Amino acid sequence: MSITSNSEKKIGIEVSSPTPDPRPPTPFVRAERLTKTYVTGKNRVVVFEDLSVEIAQGEMVAVVGPSGAGKSTLLHLLGGLDRPSVGTVKVGEFDIFKLGDVDLARFRNREIGFIFQFHHLLPEFTAVENAMMPLLIGRSSHQAAIVRALAMLESVGLKDRAMHRPGEMSGGEQARVALARALVASPRLLLADEPTGDLDSKTSESMHNLLK
Ligand code: ADP
Ligand code: MG
Repeated sequence: MSITSNSEKKIGIEVSSPTPDPRPPTPFVRAERLTKTYVTGKNRVVVFEDLSVEIAQGEMVAVVGPSGAGKSTLLHLLGGLDRPSVGTVKVGEFDIFKLGDVDLARFRNREIGFIFQFHHLLPEFTAVENAMMPLLIGRSSHQAAIVRALAMLESVGLKDRAMHRPGEMSGGEQARVALARALVASPRLLLADEPTGDLDSKTSESMHNLLK
């Protein structure tokens, strides 16, 4: 893992990784010279400038920094959920912002698992329906999707909550459904945005163990 910035402005985020160097020669994620600027009316917010990050395959990395520092923005760019103002993001063999919208959506569906801070489960669907959604979008058969989603729910300890809707589950259970959904299509890159931010410390610890 490495992170650099040529910006005059100090970046408010740090990327840290317990994985020891030396890294393999070709990193799996290569974000090069990213700048993200938001313009709203007369205001221009430069979230970061000239930010480069490399992450190796199999590496677990934490992005840390105070609220508003740009952590979510960076994760959204790495996952192709938002486009940078300047710069490139390569994930595996994909130069993701060179892809058109349809191919980018397909890339996200196949290669990226994303866990949002507030889970963003679909309230009208059950746990298993939420967890199988990426497979249905990826055109798996209904039957195969159910079998796989149930196995994922079982692996996060929620086998007996499969038919419950999000409103009938605790925050920690919803977070685990979100994890099952993020992993169901076997993505090569899992991005998690403060997945344990609103959980108690014990639930948060078990979530961290599942993430490993
Ligand atoms: P973090 O996740 O580290 O708390 P964010 O990445 O959400 O920070 O936000 C970084 C900065 O970008 C903040 O100053 C925020 O106000 C600003 N920002 C985020 N999204 C938008 C947006 N859609 N329009 C304008 N400014 C935004
Ligand atoms: Mg955030």
